[in-house]
Formats: sequence, C-alpha cells, structure tokens
Amino acid sequence: MKYRFFPTLSEEELREVQLQGLKWTVNHAYSGSKQYKQKLKAAGIEPQAISSLEDLQHLPFTTVEDLREGYPLPLLSVPEEEVVRIHASSGTTGKRKVLAYTQKDIDIFKLMLARCFELAGLTPLDRVQIAVGYGLWTAGAGFQLGCEYFGAMAIPIGPGNLDMQLQLLTDFQSTCLCSTASMALLMAEQVKKNNLLDKINLKKAIFGAEPHTPKMRKYIEETLNLEDTFDIPGMTEMYGPGTGLECKAHEGIHYWADLFIIEILDPSNLKPVAPGEVGEMVVTSLCKEAVPLIRYRTRDLTRFIPGKCSCGLNFPRHDRILGRSDDMFIFRGVNIYPGQIANVLEEFPELSSEYQIRLYRQQGLDFMEISVEQKENTSISENLPPRIEQKIKEKILVSAKVKIVPPLALPRSFGKSKRLLDERNGES
Ligand code: ADP
Ligand code: ZN
Repeated sequence: MKYRFFPTLSEEELREVQLQGLKWTVNHAYSGSKQYKQKLKAAGIEPQAISSLEDLQHLPFTTVEDLREGYPLPLLSVPEEEVVRIHASSGTTGKRKVLAYTQKDIDIFKLMLARCFELAGLTPLDRVQIAVGYGLWTAGAGFQLGCEYFGAMAIPIGPGNLDMQLQLLTDFQSTCLCSTASMALLMAEQVKKNNLLDKINLKKAIFGAEPHTPKMRKYIEETLNLEDTFDIPGMTEMYGPGTGLECKAHEGIHYWADLFIIEILDPSNLKPVAPGEVGEMVVTSLCKEAVPLIRYRTRDLTRFIPGKCSCGLNFPRHDRILGRSDDMFIFRGVNIYPGQIANVLEEFPELSSEYQIRLYRQQGLDFMEISVEQKENTSISENLPPRIEQKIKEKILVSAKVKIVPPLALPRSFGKSKRLLDERNGES
C-alpha cells in the first residue's frame, strides 16, 4: 500500500536518517542553548564526536526538571525571532511545561497528525469532530493542523459542551471523533440517553491523552456503533499528540522513527530493558528545532513490539502507554499503578469501565477504597465485592475495600479522568 504521508525507507535508510538527525540535534542543541551546552559539556560530549547511533547511549538525559528550570522558555535552542508559537502541557503533574515551536516544528507536528489520520483510514470526505482542548494545549491545535493538512473537514468544537457536541454529530454527520476516552464515554452515554444513534454517522474515534481499558473502549464502540477506534499517544514535549497511532491491525502503536528515536529503559538503572519488557520511554528528537529533546525521560511506561506488523506499514511499534511512573502510588509498602486495579476490574462483566481509588488514613493506618460502577442492566450478587477484593489481594497483594455504585454514579470528565484520590495527608 502506498501512503501519502509516510516515506518509504529500508531499515538501513531509516538508520541513516536517524544518525543524521542525531548528529544534527546534538550540534544544534549544543550551539543553540546554554542549558544544553552546559549539560553536554558536563557529560564530556563533543557534538562532532557523534559518529554512530550507538553514541546515543552516552548522551546525558534530559528531564522534566530541565524543562522547569528553564521556565518560561526552557531548552530554547533557536533565536527568539524563529519562535512562532508556544504550547503548554495540561500540567497533570506539577508546574506547567512550556514548549516553543518554530515554523518547521509546526510543519512536523501537522505531518505527524496527518499520518495518524491516514493510518486510521480517513479520506478527505471525513468530517472530524475535534473534541479536545484548544488554546495553550497542544491537542486542539495538533488535530486541527493535521486534519487540514490531510484534507479532511475539521469541526473544531473543543471538549465539553455536550449539547453542542450532540448537535454537531447530528447536523454535520461527523464521521470521526477525536477526544479522550473519558470524553467519548460521556458522549456515548448521552447519545444512548437521547436515543440518537440513528441520527448520527460516527464511524471512527481516536482516543488520546490518557490510558483507557479494553472495557471502556468496547462500551464506546458498541454504544456508538463504531467501525474502528484508535489509540493515539503523544505529549507536549514531543510536539503534542500524534507521535504514533495504533493501526487497523491493532497490534500495537506505530511510531515515527524517522522523526525521533525511542529507547525503553529500566528506570532504576537507566539501561535498556530486555527485549519486549516494560520500561520507561526515553525519546530523542531528530529534527525538532525550537526545543530539541536529547534522551528525554518521558516517565511513560511501555514496551517495544518486535517484528513486522500484519498491516504492512514498515514503521516500528511500541505497546500502548501502560501508565506513567508518576501515577504509581505506594500503599502499605506496595508499589501500585491504577492500571493494575483496572486490569483486575476488567475481569468482572457485571462492572462498567469506571472506577475510582480512594486512599485515606485512619488511626495511623492506610486504607484503600475502590468504588466501581455496576454495568447497566446487570444484577449484582452480594458476594461480588468480596470476590473482587479477593482477586485484588491475589494479584496485587493488598487489601482493599470494594464498593459497588450504581451506573453513572462516578464523576465523568471532558478530559483526563482522575482515577486516584489520595487523601492520606489530610487526616490521621
Ligand atoms: P501532562 O499530562 O504531563 O501535563 P500532556 O498534556 O502533554 O502533559 O500529556 C502527555 C501525557 O499524557 C503523556 O506523557 C502520557 O502520560 C499521557 N498520554 C498521552 N496520550 C496517551 C495515551 N494514548 N495513552 C495513555 N497515556 C497517554
Ligand atoms: Zn500495523
């Protein structure tokens, strides 16, 4: 299959593109940014000494602290007159990260998203309802740029405003929805409640910005009668959403290895994990001008998927973002990711996809309460909570109290859902 927005590169050619990009990036960062120069010098790196891709492993890491240190324009590596825009992260974890863009950066950003639309099988006749944040955030701008560049029709509504979302779905017959899975869930619930399925024409959805479970996805697909849905990863530091896309074969996420290099490292020693193992995704950009990234520690956890994809696209793959290391919480000495709890809940068909974990402290002891919604039109037996508690104990080795709440009882979100409420510092 011939793609419009993907280069055809043999493995050898891709490695050459990566090597040239790596050399350029290190040189550019060294000569353009005092902050980078100091870091590279301190690590004893002379940019001209980079001669192979193996040299990457000797470069120093860049972290979120480097971005915060240089606030408001961290790691800026071009003169300010070349900066045409800034974006900032949603600040899920701490202070806002601000990233600058040159015109070329914007062009690469739109190319990334155009690739996503192409891989999702859209055509110029698609109508794309873009229900993600506009403004400082990257998502709205990115989906919009990419959609226009790809040639489909952008419907730039932004998140929230459910009445208007439903109106646009029906009046404009949008065929593709771009949103968080949480927002798509809300829309699915509203479409169902208002009996609108016959009046809309939605065929595909692209979900990003947060992890979602298979159960959540299945509910959205079934309720909206979708042909296909796709997971889209990305982050403000790497232009925004669209660093890759799950393809139609659903065997992982293809990422744009001609634009950046991904390493997957063990966060405890920063060495590569064994092939196929989960680790922290570390990215090095290959042509990013305003804020190049050298071995940027994303804190996102995933693994490489080896081999060729059955869809035929010759770009490497990683698994879905399984969580971020910042999401980990320690409960009674056990390290836990919310995703592990979600995995246990997945096994119970009587439950919907929605859950919330509350940690609290009583008389010096930590407790965990998991509220989880009953699925609509199911009956719940009395022994369900203890059965779930038992499974959690078996799989995660902790005791939690499980509370089943009625369908739709938990809070919904227009953006990223908050799964964890840690109230342990509040009371004693
Ligand atoms: P932040 O949330 O750190 O303020 P961003 O708004 O740039 O910053 O969001 C990027 C982060 O969102 C990623 O680092 C990742 O943790 C999460 N994320 C983005 N897309 C996905 C996805 N498809 N699946 C899971 N997590 C995602
Ligand atoms: Zn594929």
